[in-house]
Amino acid sequence: MAEIPDLEARRVAEQARIRMLLNSKRTEERAGIKGGIDTVAWVEVGLCIGCDQCTIVCDDDAIELYDTPLESRIMSVEVNKKARILREPCTGCKLCVLACPTDAIVMIDR
Ligand code: SF4
Ligand code: SF4
Repeated sequence: MAEIPDLEARRVAEQARIRMLLNSKRTEERAGIKGGIDTVAWVEVGLCIGCDQCTIVCDDDAIELYDTPLESRIMSVEVNKKARILREPCTGCKLCVLACPTDAIVMIDR
């Protein structure tokens, strides 16, 4: 029967393996996202939950949140936030794409 220190060692090794796989996957994803001055970020409104993560990472003040009502079958909320990209100040750095938890931001050609 496995002893607790053995299990802990296996757990640490497994954590390291998973972390390495996730980091490698993220690096691949990042490399695959286009960016640069010829691109601009775009918010898929239906996926945006107004969490404000993108405005925090954007150093160029190129994202603003606006109020919009939320209507669904289960609730009606008068004020709900959505993000909007300001095209002019956006530098195409794609930080917001990496920060968005719902994959609501994509990079498009300018
Ligand atoms: S991070 Fe994504 S979900 Fe959150 S406000 Fe920005 S676009 Fe919307
Ligand atoms: S791509 Fe960069 S500059 Fe443009 S909105 Fe996203 S974080 Fe801001």
